[in-house]
Amino acid sequence: MNRSLRIVVVYPDLLGTYGDGGNGLVLTRRAERRGFPAELIEAASDGPLPVADVYTLGGGEDGPQVRATESLNEDGTLARAVRNGAVVFAVCAGYQIIGTTFPAADGSPVPGLGLLDVATVKGRAPRAVGEIVVDADLPGVGALTGFENHGGLTEVGPGAQPLGRVRTGVGNGDYTDGAWAGRVVGTYLHGPALARNPALADLLLRWATGEDELAPLDDYREQALRSERFEAALGRRTARGRRRVR
Ligand code: GLN
Repeated sequence: MNRSLRIVVVYPDLLGTYGDGGNGLVLTRRAERRGFPAELIEAASDGPLPVADVYTLGGGEDGPQVRATESLNEDGTLARAVRNGAVVFAVCAGYQIIGTTFPAADGSPVPGLGLLDVATVKGRAPRAVGEIVVDADLPGVGALTGFENHGGLTEVGPGAQPLGRVRTGVGNGDYTDGAWAGRVVGTYLHGPALARNPALADLLLRWATGEDELAPLDDYREQALRSERFEAALGRRTARGRRRVR
């Protein structure tokens, strides 16, 4: 790929509560460190969404989540880009938005963008808050670390596959987390998830660049962070030698 890779953070003014805009920054820097020119655009909700190779969507509160969905529907660019093969990485509210339905603050169903076959309802248990560890079903990605903070629970339909199995935490609410189909990935993991999980970032970059392999990077800081977070989430169990995390 010789032209610049364009990465768009979707509506950080509405979906910026949990720092997930960092996912766009991680993808940009990991592309540049491999010599791919990359352009990062933080696209606010008061303008047209730029055409891009990669879109990241983050978490947000219930009200802004509904407004973001309305704007994305009116704009139409994201759905067109997905049809044309763009990569989407959507977290929490963003994950719910790209699905078929999610609850508004009062619990009433709001139609999503329908870009991923997942449906979200209001959970009956207390809000899911805390560290989460997921064994990803995506090739070469391994264990994922993040934190979650959501009231909605999500069912993955036949048109998508769960992103992985929950080792600790809630995720979708059925011992799975997230979903993916084609080049569209959704998850409940904040962190930002791609800062904590460089292998997932590189999978998305491989899809976006069309490269089968990317030059390895020295991820010692990320690996130290991962060990520390896995220990925080699973500490007692790893200390007893069970459920070891790679
Ligand atoms: N409002 C959604 C929920 O609570 C998403 C929250 C979030 O993005 N962290 O389920």
